[in-house]
Amino acid sequence: MTETQAPVAIEGFRGALLAPGDDGYEQSRFTWNAMFDRRPALIARCSGVADVIAGVNYARDNGMLLSVRGGGHSIPGHSTCDDGLVLDLSPMRSVRVDPVKKTVRAEGGVNWGTYDHETGAFGLASPGGQVSTTGIAGLTLGGGIGWLMRKHGLACDNLISADVVTAAGELVTASADENEELFWGLRGGGGNFGVVTSFEFELHEVGMVLGGAVMYPVDRAPEVLAHYREFCKTAPEALTTYALLVTAPPAPFVPPEMVGHPVVVVAGCYAGDLSEGERAVQPLREYGNPPIDLFQPLPYPVLQSMFDETGPAGHSYYIKGDYVSDVSDELIETVIEQAAAMPGPHCEIHFGQMGGAIARVGENDTACSYRNAQFALIAIAHWIEPHDEEGHIAWARGLGEAVRPHTVGTYVNFLGDEGDERVKYAYGTEEKYDRLVALKRKWDPNNLFCLNQNIKPGA
Ligand code: FAD
Repeated sequence: MTETQAPVAIEGFRGALLAPGDDGYEQSRFTWNAMFDRRPALIARCSGVADVIAGVNYARDNGMLLSVRGGGHSIPGHSTCDDGLVLDLSPMRSVRVDPVKKTVRAEGGVNWGTYDHETGAFGLASPGGQVSTTGIAGLTLGGGIGWLMRKHGLACDNLISADVVTAAGELVTASADENEELFWGLRGGGGNFGVVTSFEFELHEVGMVLGGAVMYPVDRAPEVLAHYREFCKTAPEALTTYALLVTAPPAPFVPPEMVGHPVVVVAGCYAGDLSEGERAVQPLREYGNPPIDLFQPLPYPVLQSMFDETGPAGHSYYIKGDYVSDVSDELIETVIEQAAAMPGPHCEIHFGQMGGAIARVGENDTACSYRNAQFALIAIAHWIEPHDEEGHIAWARGLGEAVRPHTVGTYVNFLGDEGDERVKYAYGTEEKYDRLVALKRKWDPNNLFCLNQNIKPGA
């Protein structure tokens, strides 16, 4: 604890406080994305709400830069920092399901794997993301797109209430009946307004789902993506699908001759009656005799963790994501060209079909925007060796530029450090952004919570 001026104690703090040199500090200073090799002055591992209040008060009163960490999966590394205080909620992992009311209360450090495990024990779930390793906190506060979104909406659409520690160090509850404007802002406005210590969600009956993927060699991408576009036009809302351009995973998922080769994949999750699901995915499974067909009935938590290994913690990532209105022939051509230029075997391009329940929520009903977008398009540059950084970042940026003419909006949780204009763009209209600024002025006038896709109180 001697390398910086880290304090030895925070009054009223009960969890572990880690300063440089302490056991566990090196491990705790890293988050999911290894690109961000930062050294906080102090990592405060919160054991409960009292610790969160103590940590917020301490950072504010000492003018410290503050990072708030839920699941640690911030793409631009916002949940760690140099020389500041990291308020790490990851020890706060309790989940309490009420199977009768079909609701759940989960603490701010829970990830979707833990959440789904607990809710899944009752055959219940609410929408999370595409993998189980992300935190419920960051994903929900930004919106939350994932496998159940077309049937049950975004993660934030299922939020009933949230307990929030404000910049003043006070605990408030936000819901449809209490602090309603704050509740509006929490559903899409990210970590701008306070630290959410506990989330209450509505649950749905989601036991077994029909999930999996069909896979083809990449030279079939033009026809497979064109078929995917047509398929999506009539796909039922119970089915959420993604089309991916990736490198084939290892055996036993694919035959040896395809391992390590580029492939085009259409993956899906049907949440509902399984025989109806079989009918719904049949056109995907029948199209063009796919050499690999992994669709099968699965418990939802298994489906939600199926892609976890594609994005392990400790590797480096740079991501570009936007919404597009259509998978047009021109866009298909552009994306295939970009896929051919992938600088390494871990890079990926995803199209995710939106619509359904997402678009039934009004554009101004929550802070989360672009509810009429048809697809989310994301390019993931992923590398292991530091010397690969430059080429990978250049590839993702190039792809972002190449697809720009097709984009209709952006998603705050897919943004990197891209500047204020892109944050503003993520909220659609001036009016909406102004409403968020007003909320920020009310709850965080001095911008204590600034390490996020920041809505500046003075904007
Ligand atoms: P953290 O790094 O802990 O937090 C990110 C930010 O959220 C923090 O900087 C802070 O501002 C805020 N925050 C975190 N916890 C709290 C809290 N308790 N209270 C207040 N603010 C808080 N997004 C999707 O929508 N769908 C996906 O399918 C999806 N897949 C992803 C897969 C991977 C591998 C990764 C890395 C990201 C993915 N994302 C996805 C993006 C993801 O939603 C964001 O990265 C999100 O911020 C992660 O949340 P976290 O709690 O894990 O992150």
